[in-house]
Amino acid sequence: MAEIGTHIEKAAHLLRSGELVAIPTETVYGLAGNALNPEAVAKIFETKNRPHFNPLIVHVPDVPAAKKYVQHFPEPADKLARAFWPGPLTLVLQKKTIISDLVTAGLDTVGLRCPDHPLTHNLLSQLAFPLAAPSANLFGRVSPTRPEHVNEQLGHLIPYILDGGLCTVGIESTIVGFEKNRPVIYRLGGITVEQLQEVIGEVFINTHSSANPKTPGQLKSHYAPSKKVVLGKMEDLLQQYPAHCSGILTLSKNFNSPYQRMLSTTGNLHEAAHNLFQALRDFETMPVDVILAELVEEQGLGRAINDRLRRAAAAEP
Ligand code: AMP
Ligand code: MG
Repeated sequence: MAEIGTHIEKAAHLLRSGELVAIPTETVYGLAGNALNPEAVAKIFETKNRPHFNPLIVHVPDVPAAKKYVQHFPEPADKLARAFWPGPLTLVLQKKTIISDLVTAGLDTVGLRCPDHPLTHNLLSQLAFPLAAPSANLFGRVSPTRPEHVNEQLGHLIPYILDGGLCTVGIESTIVGFEKNRPVIYRLGGITVEQLQEVIGEVFINTHSSANPKTPGQLKSHYAPSKKVVLGKMEDLLQQYPAHCSGILTLSKNFNSPYQRMLSTTGNLHEAAHNLFQALRDFETMPVDVILAELVEEQGLGRAINDRLRRAAAAEP
């Protein structure tokens, strides 16, 4: 198992030596390596068993650091960074050659993010290089929101997990790119469509699922627990699946089952996002064969929650 601790110096030392370290962010835990060191980057793909066509997000401490790795920072990107960094927003911009094709899966763009977590911010500020960091889980599986989740899946493969406690946002960053200067959302996440629109006006959404996406993260099947996930109206699902061997996942409706998780008893979507991945994990240890889940309202963080539930349901366990 990996050591879990709060030693920034130790994490920095390992990263400088080309090792991988799991790092806390406000979204989910990341599996971090020196983004400018091809061997460290290769190790990230190997450790996660991640296909090489899936690019990595590069983490920086602030906007000036981000500017070192891109050709230019278009005005709408600058506005978004000023509004939401540090925070759960990834900006996809034209890369400089210092960022290798391995990091970006051959794309000429790079996804950059400034995470909002004091430990990781401190770590990034001490390093002379940015950190490539996908979520610290095996490819296609549920993302980790606490150090123990990382240890369960990757603990035997990495030396150290920087312990930043529970992730506050709990789902991944929103990814925004620019096509002919139009902002396009590639992944729904912790910053809502409505928040983006307030800052830059109209945004386009292109999160279409496919088996081999041009801009990945759009994989149809993702975030999958090891049990089958079925979506629908809970009352209907319970007609088809016996309650005594079904996990029940709802926002706030109570079905009085020992195998139920409610994402937020008050129907708060922030709380729901924060609890989502832990709830999906909880079903793993329950004696249930299937996870029945109800979508939430399709607005605000609800869109990102529904996106994760749909991709979880698209997976073959
Ligand atoms: P993960 O870090 O595992 O949550 O996944 C990172 C995701 O970021 C990828 O699957 C892509 O969707 C997205 N991404 C990273 N870099 C780019 C890029 N240059 N262009 C488009 N999407 C990107
Ligand atoms: Mg991931």
